[in-house]
Amino acid sequence: MKRVLLTNDDGIFSEGIRALGRELARFAKLVVVAPDREQSATSHSLTLTRPLRMVEVEPGWYAVDGTPTDCVNLAVLWLLKSQRPDLVVSGINLGSNLGDDVTYSGTVSATFEASLLGIPSVALSQEIGVGTNFERSAKIAALWIEQLLVREDLPRQFLLNVNFPAEVPRGARVTRLGKRVYRQSVIEKEDPRGKKYYWIAGTPEWQDAPGTDHEAVRTGWISLTPLHLDLTDYSNLERVEALALGVPEEVLKLQS
Ligand code: MN
Repeated sequence: MKRVLLTNDDGIFSEGIRALGRELARFAKLVVVAPDREQSATSHSLTLTRPLRMVEVEPGWYAVDGTPTDCVNLAVLWLLKSQRPDLVVSGINLGSNLGDDVTYSGTVSATFEASLLGIPSVALSQEIGVGTNFERSAKIAALWIEQLLVREDLPRQFLLNVNFPAEVPRGARVTRLGKRVYRQSVIEKEDPRGKKYYWIAGTPEWQDAPGTDHEAVRTGWISLTPLHLDLTDYSNLERVEALALGVPEEVLKLQS
């Protein structure tokens, strides 16, 4: 039986991870290591300034007082160090993780961490709206995960970002990350003591370009986007070359 590590960023008691856990346990040796409370939008943060606690809340389900990235590390490098997982699964997140927003996402960052540790991974997110059904999405996710687990050709850095529409899906589409046109506005107010405070607000707007994850989910399709962690901008390598070559000898060789 293949081993699956399941985590999320909404906390170990969230509906999405429960539904997915039930499905995955049917065909995989499942270990769940997830935050003990909501850690959404924690991005790829790693806790290094305080100790972490890990409590087995029920057999095979471990709650950690840290981020999703902490959970993946504790699981892979400690709990499962002699029985490395074949796949890391993160979700199902309450809310979409589309386009530029994947950089904020704790759900997706757990799979970035899996990539860094050389384990294939799948991130799953559910749009919230009329028709949202974690049971349905968990069953579909489990079908794909079962197929991925038997593939011998899966690269260690394989990372699949999945987004389910709220309504009954029309099917699934392979997509690329969409672009956000605008998201935040900052609101300034005064507290009862007359001191200013700020609130980051605003609703996202998207370039609804064909072939993007956002367009797929908006039109009722499940979006499947393979991601990778190489952030190199190959189109700008040449532009940077001039900087690399432009430092005068005498400055390079300055001694303190
Ligand atoms: Mn979340």
